[in-house]
Amino acid sequence: MSHQISVMVHTPAHSGIGGALTYESDTAHAPGTLVRVPLGSRELLGVVWDSTAPSAVDVSAAAEEQSSFVDAAPATMQLRAIASVLEGVSPLSAHWRQLVQFAASYYQRSAGEVALAALPSQLRDLSTEQWVRRLKRKPKVVAAYEGATQTIPTPTDEQAQVLADIAAHKGPFLLFGNTGSGKTEVYLRAAQAVLEHDPQAQILVMVPEINLTPQLEERFRTRFCPQWGADCLVAMHSSLTPAQRLKNWLAAHSGEARIVLGTRMAVFASMPHLQLIVVDEEHDPSYKQQEGARYSARDLAIYRGQLEGAKVILGSATPSLESWHHSRPATASDLAGRYMRLAMPSRVGQGALPLVRRVDMNRQPYKTVFSNHLLDAIRERVTRGEQILVLLNRRGYAPVLNCNDCGWKSECPHCSAYRVFHKLDRTLRCHHCGFTQPVPRACPSCGNLDISPLGRGTEQLEEHLAELLADVRRLDGEPIRIARIDADSTRLKGELERQLAEVHAGAVDVLVGTQMIAKGHDFRRVTLVAALNPDGALFSSDFRAPERLFSLLMQAAGRAGRDANMRLVSPCEMWVQSFHPMHPLFEALKQHDYPAFAEQQLKEREQATLPPFSFQALVRAEARSQEAAQSFLNAARDAGAALADELLVDLYPAVPMTIQRVANIERAQMLIECTSRKALQHFLAHWQADLHAMRSAHRQVIRWAVDVDPLAI
Ligand code: ADP
Ligand code: ZN
Ligand code: ZN
Repeated sequence: MSHQISVMVHTPAHSGIGGALTYESDTAHAPGTLVRVPLGSRELLGVVWDSTAPSAVDVSAAAEEQSSFVDAAPATMQLRAIASVLEGVSPLSAHWRQLVQFAASYYQRSAGEVALAALPSQLRDLSTEQWVRRLKRKPKVVAAYEGATQTIPTPTDEQAQVLADIAAHKGPFLLFGNTGSGKTEVYLRAAQAVLEHDPQAQILVMVPEINLTPQLEERFRTRFCPQWGADCLVAMHSSLTPAQRLKNWLAAHSGEARIVLGTRMAVFASMPHLQLIVVDEEHDPSYKQQEGARYSARDLAIYRGQLEGAKVILGSATPSLESWHHSRPATASDLAGRYMRLAMPSRVGQGALPLVRRVDMNRQPYKTVFSNHLLDAIRERVTRGEQILVLLNRRGYAPVLNCNDCGWKSECPHCSAYRVFHKLDRTLRCHHCGFTQPVPRACPSCGNLDISPLGRGTEQLEEHLAELLADVRRLDGEPIRIARIDADSTRLKGELERQLAEVHAGAVDVLVGTQMIAKGHDFRRVTLVAALNPDGALFSSDFRAPERLFSLLMQAAGRAGRDANMRLVSPCEMWVQSFHPMHPLFEALKQHDYPAFAEQQLKEREQATLPPFSFQALVRAEARSQEAAQSFLNAARDAGAALADELLVDLYPAVPMTIQRVANIERAQMLIECTSRKALQHFLAHWQADLHAMRSAHRQVIRWAVDVDPLAI
């Protein structure tokens, strides 16, 4: 008897095929089986999907498209046969398929694309012969672990309380713990408990960027490998070779690997016995995928935990405002959030948090980059053999215009947002409502001619600093050494590691860098951290900029004073140079008071109905001309208007993106907003079809994509 089998394959995003194709086979294949199928003249890897398409997940454009495609295959049509089954790999679980289906539907992509992107490329690329050879490779005898072992510390009272709560409740949990409060130790203990309780249990630990946190992997290895063997932990991230990735994926899929440690892609790891998910530094923007299906691995972790009955711990010293809001305790007028908040305010065995010092740049001579106070402090510490971090805020903030005299800024008169300076056509545009005006010749408020984008002018900072400190000598009498770490200086492979090693070895006195240097490193001799130009983030067109700045500064502050045994002449310090030193953000920073900062920000967000009090999506379009890109988006807006009205979804006019032209391609975007996630999802699912249909009338549009829950607008 012949069976009709539905198979997910990776088809181009806009092919109009959702991803599932129907094939014929003599034998029935269980859903989740990996197969090779013919498509045109090619042979593709595919996953056997449930033939009764609509799953428990809510309907989506993707799911509808797929099922209708499957249904539409006329009975008389000659179906092609499945070419082969990939031997030696057990079927992917129903939970895994549902995770993929959900992600595809939520992020408006095809399930085929999401499914295939989540599998290691060698499953696809190895020929049948190569695959057979790969399977024959004898697994090594389980390697005994020969590395170092750890002495396991006794939990502090706070850690013990948090662990008891995690054991007793279902979660999800937001572990709100200061830098150095022992969050990692909590993850290790929670993992230990799960591993010991169930001989099959698996644990997924996600980190923002593995290259920046080699110490974390080492801590997990030395904790668990002595007991569970050298192969109990595998890594999953983009710098693995294809062969390593396949090996690690198979280890997780077969259940052999008990712990998977990875970046955002690991959220799709096939783990049949998953019981605990940890998302470390849950606020980190790198959990959001920025191409293809633009998923948030943090949010999918919550979904996956619920789906599989695994506990989820999100950890951070500066949680995202979304997670903070979701973990709010009940009040007289409001129900508690869905997450359980667990707090660890104290630092373990480390010095106190640094003293925050603010320099009022209004009182400095015009165009000062380094205030004299700060220079003196740096000189003094370097002479004593201490290290300095100088933090530049060069993250791609959209430029906002600023009057250098009266402090006027390019606010939008219609929104609680700042308009963005578009250099190309010299306009000011609101990325929220689209309001556009030419750049004024002079400050509209005081007439000053000196108006310029905020937060610039740090390009030559490293050289400038070297000149200013040329006369300073280190403890050993040698001239001072300054190093710079940023995306440019670390482009070569291994370069970041090499530079960090130099800092650790004490060969560098002053380290200048972007947010890269603020994350996770355990620099032992740093006693002063300086933020030079943080103001751009206070007045940004991006409403998340202050949240990111606060978290960056808190993290950077956490780099100072990590060695409690270091005898200090004066306490560790975090310096902030600002034209707005009394801004509430810096007030909260001075007190190391994240909750105060979060409360103030959430109040503003609520008043302006911004996330988490509303939900957003962006459609981006690229075309040969700006006009073509915008007219596609505006036509899409017209097409969706009636449904949007009905669902109370706001569709804003198209605007050029901040970086409007890349390699002669013009880019535009359009914001969609709604106070109900469900209504927004419903709208997007139906609107997809309009967008697909419009392509033929807008041939100049090269590509378009939807970004659900975008991180920058
Ligand atoms: P976080 O992840 O919150 O920054 P860590 O877990 O890295 O904190 O802990 C900070 C430091 O304190 C580490 O050096 C860790 O080994 C140590 N530490 C954590 N918990 C304890 C404990 N219960 N007793 C002693 N030292 C601890
Ligand atoms: Zn002015
Ligand atoms: Zn506006």
